[in-house]
Amino acid sequence: MSTKNWKLETIAVQAGYTPGNGDPRVAPIVQSTTFKYDDAQSVADLFDLKREGFFYTRLANPTVDCFEKKIAALEGGVAAVATSSGQNANALAIQNMARCGDHVIAVSSLYGGTVSLFSNTLKKAGIEFSFVSPAASVADIEAAIRPNTKAIFAEMLANPALIVLDVEKMAAVAHRHGLPLIVDNTFPTPMNCRPFEFGADLVTHSTTKYIDGHAISLGGIVVEKGGFDWTNGKFPEFTEPDASYHGLVYTRDFAAAPFSVKLRVQWIRDMGTPMSPFNAFLAMVGCETLHIRMERHGANALALAQHLEKHPLVSWVNYPGLTSSPQHALAKKYLKSCSGVLCFGVNGGSKAGEIVMNSLKVAAIAVHVADLRTCVLHPASMTHRQLSDAELVAAGVSPDLIRVSVGLEHIDDIIADFDQALAKTK
Ligand SMILES: *Cc1c(COP(=O)(O)O)cnc(C)c1O
Repeated sequence: MSTKNWKLETIAVQAGYTPGNGDPRVAPIVQSTTFKYDDAQSVADLFDLKREGFFYTRLANPTVDCFEKKIAALEGGVAAVATSSGQNANALAIQNMARCGDHVIAVSSLYGGTVSLFSNTLKKAGIEFSFVSPAASVADIEAAIRPNTKAIFAEMLANPALIVLDVEKMAAVAHRHGLPLIVDNTFPTPMNCRPFEFGADLVTHSTTKYIDGHAISLGGIVVEKGGFDWTNGKFPEFTEPDASYHGLVYTRDFAAAPFSVKLRVQWIRDMGTPMSPFNAFLAMVGCETLHIRMERHGANALALAQHLEKHPLVSWVNYPGLTSSPQHALAKKYLKSCSGVLCFGVNGGSKAGEIVMNSLKVAAIAVHVADLRTCVLHPASMTHRQLSDAELVAAGVSPDLIRVSVGLEHIDDIIADFDQALAKTK
């Protein structure tokens, strides 16, 4: 099915699955670990990647395949590989191109789990990370590049600092040095930004967030734009024979999507972290209304941000969609809307913030973000509690920061809820 000329809304609803005559209208959940064949040669050919098909759900599954195709089409990429979680998507995106002894540059304003993954777990595996400020100049970023640097990693709209990536600038630096740019596009979703259009080479998502949108399934995905030159001498694993596949060469044998094929047949196969078919089904159904939901998330968040900005008991509001935001120019350039997440501080600091959190009735305290129910979080004492003070500052998290994930309830009810909770701090 060619989705080339379709608008994003049509892709969200229809891409990924084309039923034949008499087939189920909706992509079914293929809850089977394995697939039956009539002869041994068929399975041998599948194992050798000589033909496409399914033989074991750890490598590929028809339901997961539909979901991967839908997200690849939404992002405008050539292929996608779904993973068990967003954490796993980011881990494998890095590990597929960098190994022990290599180096990666990351923008410092990242999700806490990603900071922890990079600065602890992957570091112990021998991959070193240099963190650069989101405001770093081109010269600063170039100064951090080493002969063994393999990639630049950043979030399109940082969670929870809400700093907008200057993706064109970052892509230009990366490409000048033969490096791919990986962009975690979890917060904008392809409805608000398609980073490939601005030069990114790989996009990752925690599909747990807006793509699922209902807080019902954990998942992640890595999308490949296609066209990055893996033969530039920095990535021998793509150009030299893979002993675990009888000497297959990814850039030669799978030139259209070498990154995705390698990610699947090495990392998903060996580490065993595919998305489950059931989760793929849930995320796919969620994704089919993504365009409608993102529009409302953005409108509700902007209305709440504008209201809080005028509120006498609120000390500051961070939402890139506000014209007062220092991020507003970048947001206007790259984002259709700024999604549903905003941050604010209350007069009276951390203590008053806790009173607000505990007094909210529509908004719930939850360690989640980006689903249809409004929820709040205090990162310094919750999601980001494992970060040092310096890491907190680098991630753009102040001690009084309350993160609000604005849901799809009526905006009047959301605003009234924050008003009554703020009144309790007087
Ligand atoms: C939540 C999140 C992740 C991690 O995803 P999980 O699905 O929770 O593993 C990674 N990046 C960003 C930006 C996130 O918000």
